Amino acid sequence: MSALAPASDFPSPPDGVRASIRLDHAASSPTPRVVLEAMDAFTAAPANVHRGGHHLAERATSMYERAREHVADFLGTDARQVVFTAGATAAIATVFAGLRLGPTDVVLAPVTEHHANLLPWLRGAAFEAMPLDRDGAIDLAALQARLARGPRPRLLACAWVSHLHGGAHPIAAIVALAHAAGVPVLVDAAQALAHLPCELDALGIDYLVGSGHKLLGPTGVGVLAGSREALERLDPLVIGGGAVERVSLVHGVTTKPLPWRLESGTPPIAAAIGLGRAVRYLDRLGRDAIAEHAAALARALRGGLAAIPGVECLGAVEPVVPITCFRVGGLPPVAVARALDERYGVLVRAGTLCAQPAFEHWGWRDGAVRASAHVVSARAELDALFEAAAELARRFAR
Ligand code: PMP
Repeated sequence: MSALAPASDFPSPPDGVRASIRLDHAASSPTPRVVLEAMDAFTAAPANVHRGGHHLAERATSMYERAREHVADFLGTDARQVVFTAGATAAIATVFAGLRLGPTDVVLAPVTEHHANLLPWLRGAAFEAMPLDRDGAIDLAALQARLARGPRPRLLACAWVSHLHGGAHPIAAIVALAHAAGVPVLVDAAQALAHLPCELDALGIDYLVGSGHKLLGPTGVGVLAGSREALERLDPLVIGGGAVERVSLVHGVTTKPLPWRLESGTPPIAAAIGLGRAVRYLDRLGRDAIAEHAAALARALRGGLAAIPGVECLGAVEPVVPITCFRVGGLPPVAVARALDERYGVLVRAGTLCAQPAFEHWGWRDGAVRASAHVVSARAELDALFEAAAELARRFAR
């Protein structure tokens, strides 16, 4: 299985950076040359958006709003339903603050979520763990029973794809159950969007968040999208220039319509333009082709690791996205990652992966090693990981 995206579309490592096999794409993905060029085209003649009466400001505004349209097409929604944020974490914080959740408001979420989708609820709402089975899959019958029982949660928050095992939660079924009980749903799609087609409007998701730097885009930008009614319900987390139509000490404040009322201050213009170009690049690769490539890599990655004596994989949910957490005998995950880099030139992520309650759930106290692949990944790179992990297991595992 070869890579879907040609290596020649990406810059080679700069001087002083050694070439490596990257299997840490769930942390951050590489940036195609066209994305760098799109950002450069803005940065070479920068100006602010929606401000200033000159041609450069108009050019900046049109590049920025075109990026929003590309992201909206990519998500299966309308540009007015796409808000640029600083990242997925910031998008979740926007929903938390926008709904004005307080300590008595129940938010239902799986304990296996990324900290970004747990800490706001743990700190500022009445977090309640969503029922899971032993493998980490959502128990839909138990969820339905919980929703029927009350008290009614203010929000149900759940990842589409796990950043730990690459398995997908049944988002359509979860949305249907939640909506039947009158509960809005936030979907953390940070790990899903790069690999799976998304029809946001058709799925009826209230709030969906994504992250630019996992979508072949730059860091510093993400997205909050959703239904118009759900987004209208949010109070702006940050209020200031750009979000208001009129401010009068006599007549009060009138905010702009969506999406601008949720984008106070100067937005991450260059990064948003980069993200717009990145999703076009993914669209051109073909969303179905990407999903097929991801599924094949997911099976190969998990199957290959699970077959190595001394290597154990996390959870038992069938992965649809090439993300697998594993451990090698009793070796500390961080030491395994370092050895993979230094001895074999294979880059992976390790530790508790912003998911400490998840590792408590599974009883893996010091976390795991996580390998993850993307459209740039080929089977031969997985084989290099398998050989290296097998050798580490043979030589060092207890
Ligand atoms: N949710 C999930 C599932 C993630 O994997 C990540 C990134 N590690 C985030 C949220 C946070 O995304 P961002 O870096 O854009 O804030």
